[in-house]
Amino acid sequence: MSLDALTSLNPTAIPAEDEALREGLRQFLRESTHSISPERRARSWAGFDANFSRELGRRGYLGLTFPRNYGGADRSAFARFVVVEELLNFGAPVAAHWIAERQSGPLILKYGTEAQKRRHLPPIARGESFFCIGMSEPNSGSDLASVRTCAKRDGKGWRLDGQKIWTTHGHRCHYMIALVRTSGGAADRQRGLSQILVDLSLPGVVARPIVDLTGDSHFSEVFFDDVRLEEDSLIGEEGNGWEQVTAELAFERSGPERFYTSMVLFDEWLDFVRTSAGRTPESERLAGRILSQLAPIRALSLAVTAKLESGASPVIEAALVKDLGTAVEQLIPEAIAEDLFSRGDAELPPALLGALNYTTLAAPSYSLRGGTRDILRGMIARGLGLR
Ligand SMILES: Cc1cc2nc3c(=O)[nH]c(=O)nc-3n(C[C@H](O)[C@H](O)[C@H](O)COP(=O)(O)OP(=O)(O)OC[C@H]3O[C@@H](n4cnc5c(N)ncnc54)[C@H](O)[C@@H]3O)c2cc1C
Repeated sequence: MSLDALTSLNPTAIPAEDEALREGLRQFLRESTHSISPERRARSWAGFDANFSRELGRRGYLGLTFPRNYGGADRSAFARFVVVEELLNFGAPVAAHWIAERQSGPLILKYGTEAQKRRHLPPIARGESFFCIGMSEPNSGSDLASVRTCAKRDGKGWRLDGQKIWTTHGHRCHYMIALVRTSGGAADRQRGLSQILVDLSLPGVVARPIVDLTGDSHFSEVFFDDVRLEEDSLIGEEGNGWEQVTAELAFERSGPERFYTSMVLFDEWLDFVRTSAGRTPESERLAGRILSQLAPIRALSLAVTAKLESGASPVIEAALVKDLGTAVEQLIPEAIAEDLFSRGDAELPPALLGALNYTTLAAPSYSLRGGTRDILRGMIARGLGLR
């Protein structure tokens, strides 16, 4: 019964002690972002600012869910939810620490050795150590089981050869956690894959930035030519890479970044609509339409957060959040452009147009990064027993 898929997600409120984080953080974000243009703030989780990440770490807003003995605060996933939604709504430049804090840290915490946890988690929580995700390859995007980058045992360590692509901030990060083949061949598919931690400063690693449609070079292609890795580079069990990557994707797909990416634009436009020059009956209806879509997605994301908090790996539920969330993220620039350009030659605020320009160019990528819409829907179908 399809109802079973729905009843596994329950309405969840953010505990009061986690809500309490919001006010202090807002004050800090108001001060630190007020002079940044809306067009720059619209980048938010694509905006790389190492100093900002360090300051967040210094103020204790990173690694909240990590245990205290690894530099964290032993707080719940709801505390992190509050921090993330405030950061994104202010359009703070969070890219430097983003992946490390969201998924590499939790992955190391779950599967890493004691030495890996001690080495990597405290600097992630301080906002000093930046990670990227090495899953996609030139011929392996949706079909990740076909990755060809391989790590072979060599004495006590590993030798790594191959290539990754679309690696967000691969040319700026310190480490990559890569999905690689450690045994078998292409026909073995998911079997024989492992996750390996690569220090991107090692000889044999070359990262070349790729310019995207917006003119930014936020992602890159990363080449590995006979890179020598220490024995302690394997994350988790050898051959368990597929299961680990799948669990990691639940962190990647369910959070506020899957429905708040267009919020700087939405807020800039609302400010305009609040003025006498900007308000029209159509814009009022559009504001209602957008908010009525965001509210249930936020509730759904909180329900998935509760599952993550309980230690579950809600992979299908996370796919629901990303599928719905990216649809509203893409609706916002499209509907706002339609609203603004239906006003004839009315004067429009340049700052609003700047945010609209960036968000419109970036929006097609929202339903590609982190798994395409088709792939998510296939996973949901599998969850319903259809595959
Ligand atoms: C902004 C951005 C940032 C990214 N950052 C990273 C990163 O940091 N690390 C990383 O590893 N990757 C990253 N990616 C890559 C991203 O994960 C892939 O682009 C995505 O998984 C799709 O893979 P692909 O580009 O090879 O397309 P393909 O897999 O070739 O897909 C092409 C089209 O075919 C459809 N399709 C493919 N297979 C099926 C199927 N079985 N059923 C139905 N339809 C299907 C897809 O939905 C899509 O429309 C990023 C991508 C973007 C756009």
